[in-house]
Amino acid sequence: MRKQIFKKQIQYLTILLILSFLIGFSNYIRIPLASASDSISFFIHFGIITSAIFGILYFLSINKFIFYLFFPPIAAISILSSCYLYLFNITITGAILEVTLNTDWQVTKEFLSIDIGVIILICIVIIAFTIHHRSRFNPLFRAKWALHLIISLILIFPAVYANSYRQNTIINRVPFTIINATKEYIKVKELYSIDRRDIALDAKVSKSDSLLVIVVIGEAVRNDHLGLNKYHRNTTPQLLKRDIISFSNNKSLYTYTAASIPQLLTRSDSQSPERAYSEKSIISVLNQCGFNTFWLANQTPDYTYDKIAKSAKYYSNASMTISTYSDIKWTDNKLLSLFKNIDLSSDVNQCVFLHSIGSHWYYNYRYPEKFKVFTPITKSRSIQHNSAIEKINSYDNSILYMDYFIDEIIHKIENKNSLLIYISDHGELLGENEMWLHASEHEKLHDAACFVWMSETYKEKNMDKYKSAIKNKNNETSTSLLFHSILGACDIETKILDQSQNIFSQH
Ligand SMILES: [Zn+2]
Repeated sequence: MRKQIFKKQIQYLTILLILSFLIGFSNYIRIPLASASDSISFFIHFGIITSAIFGILYFLSINKFIFYLFFPPIAAISILSSCYLYLFNITITGAILEVTLNTDWQVTKEFLSIDIGVIILICIVIIAFTIHHRSRFNPLFRAKWALHLIISLILIFPAVYANSYRQNTIINRVPFTIINATKEYIKVKELYSIDRRDIALDAKVSKSDSLLVIVVIGEAVRNDHLGLNKYHRNTTPQLLKRDIISFSNNKSLYTYTAASIPQLLTRSDSQSPERAYSEKSIISVLNQCGFNTFWLANQTPDYTYDKIAKSAKYYSNASMTISTYSDIKWTDNKLLSLFKNIDLSSDVNQCVFLHSIGSHWYYNYRYPEKFKVFTPITKSRSIQHNSAIEKINSYDNSILYMDYFIDEIIHKIENKNSLLIYISDHGELLGENEMWLHASEHEKLHDAACFVWMSETYKEKNMDKYKSAIKNKNNETSTSLLFHSILGACDIETKILDQSQNIFSQH
């Protein structure tokens, strides 16, 4: 009798192990790997994730009541999220959770309804099969519950350790992405409940002549890797053919997106950083002045600026189903398509914010094949398994694509009374002190590319601004310039406009 129960338990645990393996493996099916040693480090990562999933399912199985209550929903979420990754390369993100929970069915349907029936059926079959096997025994598990508890916690521990040791490396993978998505969703909700203070209630436009302003927010683009700024490689061939005014001494206040974007869009600066969360943004000021405002996203807004992005009169997100951990070609071509589809024929003043994915690691995913000009490029997603030159080549190719992307935008607006401001959220480390990527601390992480382009019509009407920008371009500027320079460029008069931060002003 005892032996039989033991056998059933082993059978059951084998099912759990296979299930955990399949869920965990969905994270790695598309990952680029360069070498055997590279594969080993990912194999360890995969092992830690599988062990944690197995540990959690094991833990839920110890007590019969806990099992019947919690196993079905947790298993369903895990199987669902890995199915989406396996079949469609879709990651469940905070944005998906938000539209689903807010029953924005139209949007939800667009990406979740693809064969949802099949996926739900797979879920039900697996869950029923597992429950059936768990229901075949009980006494032995109950007798040694403390031992089973210890085993399950030991299985989970490496993941908890690895996650705290290497910046959320586990929580960003399926099925734990759901924890991250939920956290993100809750934080957005919390921040929504805080009212930002109105600013510039006195603001009004002094000129009104169908102005079109485009603000492109770059991602991890460094001034010193632009051909425009005399980088030894010509990474900006298209922009060099245009009359671009580059602010090559521009510095970002922060070194990662979530902190940089609210700073960029508000009156926040090094003296009053809290304004990034206490005051309304430039978008609110533009709305108040009667502008048509657009926010086109190729990065799902972080909770820190979600509310600001959505305060635009028109909001669209091209990348709701992708995270930076997705193994998928994710270029700003998506943003270009969104941009080309919006109607800019209106006579009303307009301002379009484009939040690009720019040069975010993994760089090869940021540009189409024909922009693979600097070679050899990286072959592995693991930073340490590529040479320095491969990483820099991949990065520079992504800049080359940014050059094309901006040129295409200018092409669409050049016959209007228009202006484009490009500003990167922060810089990137490219091997300085053997360091890579961003979100740490180094001078190069603050090197944020910034440049301006004006149409001939705009130049004619605003020669003073054009001349001032040229005069100011070598000055030391910071990302705080954006708020005041948009006000300046749009001729918005308000007492909060700080002319010393306005790149279009003589002061
Ligand atoms: Zn960023």
